[in-house]
Amino acid sequence: MERILVSETVHKTGEKVRVAGWVANRRDHGKLIFLDLRDRSGILQVVVTPDQNAAHEAASRVRPEWVVAIAGEVKERPKNMQNPDIATGTVELAAEALEVIAEAKTPPFPIDTDGRDIEEELRLKYRYLDLRRERLRKNIRKRAAIIKFIRDYLTARDFVEIETPILSKSTPEGARDYLVPSRIYRENFYALPQSPQQYKQLLMVAALERYFQIARCFRDEDTRGDRQPEFTQLDLEMSFVEMEDVMSLIEALFIELVEMLYPEKKIQEKPFPRLSYADVMEKYGTDRPDLRNDKDDPDLLAFAWIVDFPFFEKSDGGGWTFTHNPFSAPKPEHREWLMAKSNVEKILTTQYDIVLNGYEVGGGSIRNHQPEALQRVFEIMGFSEEQIRENFGHMLEALSFGAPPHGGIAPGLDRLVMILEGEPNIREVIAFPKTGDARDPMMDSPSPATSEQLKELGIRFGES
Ligand code: ASP
Repeated sequence: MERILVSETVHKTGEKVRVAGWVANRRDHGKLIFLDLRDRSGILQVVVTPDQNAAHEAASRVRPEWVVAIAGEVKERPKNMQNPDIATGTVELAAEALEVIAEAKTPPFPIDTDGRDIEEELRLKYRYLDLRRERLRKNIRKRAAIIKFIRDYLTARDFVEIETPILSKSTPEGARDYLVPSRIYRENFYALPQSPQQYKQLLMVAALERYFQIARCFRDEDTRGDRQPEFTQLDLEMSFVEMEDVMSLIEALFIELVEMLYPEKKIQEKPFPRLSYADVMEKYGTDRPDLRNDKDDPDLLAFAWIVDFPFFEKSDGGGWTFTHNPFSAPKPEHREWLMAKSNVEKILTTQYDIVLNGYEVGGGSIRNHQPEALQRVFEIMGFSEEQIRENFGHMLEALSFGAPPHGGIAPGLDRLVMILEGEPNIREVIAFPKTGDARDPMMDSPSPATSEQLKELGIRFGES
């Protein structure tokens, strides 16, 4: 008999069906044995009566997390026995045959709870079991639905999804790079991208005009509870645009996404309010204020744009460094200052950050599409001609081959899903996250390389 999903049983009262999945729970009442059977669609109650000899014998042996297939008749539950908490709560399956497909060791933690009280190290070591729990399965499926929505939305607006390299070269996004040694080119390294920033700008020079990618980014930052060494951005870039165009595209996308996938949620203010960096710093003391009128309402979403950031800030060494992105253009009214390298502290950037309920969920800017302007940024930061040529020569050269005005943004997907799902940290919405201190207890990474690997790479560790 063909296997059906447990969710389908609600329409099959009186019919003989076969379901398969994992035993979530077994309650042995002596004569009657109740099993909760879990598959990808949900949970179904199965009743095994003693008159079904073989099935009853098998059911008395099964344990949680065994994989079984059960055939039987779908019966409507008496009204007082219905369970409104599960989607199949109006029916149950009267088992006639029970086949054990795979036995399971006793799991290291319960799976039929939300899992919040279980030590995270253990959850991540057995992530493949942790992911069986309803809450995580829902998060992962919702994440996929959000990504699908975004893909469809942008593809329908003539954006092209393009993959950019993972083995790449250092891009200044303000963090440390992960380096990958090259075997063929001894003493040389690839860098994992902190973001596809340079590639997406080069795609604009390449005349693609509208690009997006669900992009993995890598940043080797000192561990902070809710940071991950690798995370996912919706990375996007468009040509012939100004700040307004990028902001209104993302705003419309977010509004439609919430309306489609989270109809129960309410966006506090539409269009999203726009606040200047100076104002929010003065009023809230942070550039990612939580603007919700009612912070206890789990369904309230307070989006806002933060604009008018200073372009440069004093670096530790006393010179200037960029606040967000060295490739950004200044606000048009401050271009003169940039070109003359004057009033540096007063130059504002075209950077726009989007915040939601006290989190920054993305940022972007209009870029310097004229090579002279980008050159000035690096000069202000104190780079020598040679450093500029070595590190950014390819960008400056590319911009000299007819670059359109362009700009983009990169909302962080992990954080967005986290907020929409009401989760306290991004690890709850990533299938295989690292711990807060950048380890993977399941794969046991990072881990030492073998001496052969190191030899091949020409790496020797000195005493230090
Ligand atoms: N590359 C930037 C970032 O990762 C986003 C952007 O400006 O598009 O923050």
